[in-house]
Amino acid sequence: MTTTRRAVVIGAGFGGLALAIRLQAAGVRTTLVEKRDKPGGRAYVYEDHGFKFDAGPTVITDPSAIEALFDTAGRRMADYVTLLPVSPFYRLCWEDGSSFDYVNDQDALDRQIHARNPADVDGYRRFLAYSKAVFAEGYLKLGAVPFLSFRDMMRAGPQLARLQAWRSVYGMVSRFVQDEHLRQAFSFHSLLVGGNPFATSSIYTLIHALERQWGVWFPRGGTGALVAGMVRLFEDLGGTVMLNAPVARIEMADGRTTGVRLAQGQTIEADMVASNADVMHTYDALLGHHPRGVAQSNALRGKRFSNSLFVIHFGLRRRHTQLQHHTVCFGPRYRGLIDDIFKSETLADDFSLYLHAPCVTDPSLAPPDCGSHYVLAPVPHLGNAPLDWSVEGPRYRDRILAYLEARYMPNLRADLVTSRIFTPADFRDELNAHVGSAFSLEPVLTQSAWFRPHNRDAAVPNLYLVGAGTHPGAGVPGVIGSARATAGLMLAETHA
Ligand SMILES: Cc1cc2nc3c(=O)[nH]c(=O)nc-3n(C[C@H](O)[C@H](O)[C@H](O)COP(=O)(O)OP(=O)(O)OC[C@H]3O[C@@H](n4cnc5c(N)ncnc54)[C@H](O)[C@@H]3O)c2cc1C
Repeated sequence: MTTTRRAVVIGAGFGGLALAIRLQAAGVRTTLVEKRDKPGGRAYVYEDHGFKFDAGPTVITDPSAIEALFDTAGRRMADYVTLLPVSPFYRLCWEDGSSFDYVNDQDALDRQIHARNPADVDGYRRFLAYSKAVFAEGYLKLGAVPFLSFRDMMRAGPQLARLQAWRSVYGMVSRFVQDEHLRQAFSFHSLLVGGNPFATSSIYTLIHALERQWGVWFPRGGTGALVAGMVRLFEDLGGTVMLNAPVARIEMADGRTTGVRLAQGQTIEADMVASNADVMHTYDALLGHHPRGVAQSNALRGKRFSNSLFVIHFGLRRRHTQLQHHTVCFGPRYRGLIDDIFKSETLADDFSLYLHAPCVTDPSLAPPDCGSHYVLAPVPHLGNAPLDWSVEGPRYRDRILAYLEARYMPNLRADLVTSRIFTPADFRDELNAHVGSAFSLEPVLTQSAWFRPHNRDAAVPNLYLVGAGTHPGAGVPGVIGSARATAGLMLAETHA
């Protein structure tokens, strides 16, 4: 009987939530256990002085993957959450004063590209065609299927070779486009999922086609409203959410997991356990008492982890109507800065920033005439740069706010009502993220697909992974795709 099967999902990030919904919708009695006081994981929400701040994801792409979750459960997404279109997708700004509005309108794109370098109009079209081909292979075909055996990887090999997946994102863009600003405009996307554009496989250029295909969206009420809608859906289906419930240990007997033990001491028994928590935390802390946990965590220690982020959430008593919803503020260096972010033992003097101004799309996120914002800077993870962020954080915040005030948001500091920071140390301590990485394992080719921790553990047959550390990887569409892959495996076991 499928209805008597019980599953525990550890962690209520987008991946954990999406998996829990799929399991519960299929009749598996599912309990979602979350360490923090609110669900969402990286998509946590802070509320200060009437301002609402989404902590993490703000660029919502592939709404069809989200809609599919509601469809699977026999519900209408519109009854739970409304997605609003965002245009331009991003405004990209450089220190020489030039900017580029990345929109989903070919003529407007052509005009802007032509103004920078006429030859790149044709180059961009060829790049888009390439990106669409990668999207069809890498996302539509393989984005939500598990890579459990090397045979699965070999099957994908010819396509990967044909698409020249060994090239980097930046290397591939540069084959089509000559202008340096445009190269940056079409290669920075992999940073959104923790990929170094100079090292990550050109497969990640698919993000460009994905955005052109389905647009960029923002939930009414903020990304937190999407999390809340997913939690409501899960509970409407009869699922159980436990908050303030850190898991301390994955219980094992006879080579199989039997459930989880919470830090408070309670045991939750289950036929299947899936972890949405950080992969290293899962194997090292939760399964470290078992040889499989020791072996896997030792293997993971040798892997490359993505960069971390430094985030400032701030509320202003003024609305900056000159801003777009999403702005990328490129600093003076591109390649050099990215090298520093991924490899350096310290913080660079310069930075590139992503600035979020959600009130452009939804003014309800701040009190009347006020603005809710966050700004983030990619920074090295703690394994590379073991900085004392309690000292560095306030200093770095002041530098970033002064820079924003000088170039983008006049009077910013005088208008501040509230601000808070989230540092690499918080990624480590709040989210249990190994070395404070913001995106888990770095998405290089040798750590992708079969080479990434699998959606089902190879040695413990009823232990599963979901989220950024497993296939296909970080980003909201990625982890929702991972939930589809993992749910497929878990339900196959249920029905076996
Ligand atoms: C600042 C920022 C901005 C981003 N912007 C975007 C964007 O615009 N678009 C996009 O697509 N992606 C974006 N991303 C990436 C995206 O947010 C993540 O890849 C994705 O949300 C990760 O989801 P996940 O399912 O892996 O789980 P996570 O969000 O990592 O959640 C894991 C959960 O597990 C919990 N947990 C950990 N240990 C335990 C334990 N022992 N017991 C119980 N629970 C535990 C954690 O508290 C957490 O809630 C951004 C990321 C960050 C950090």
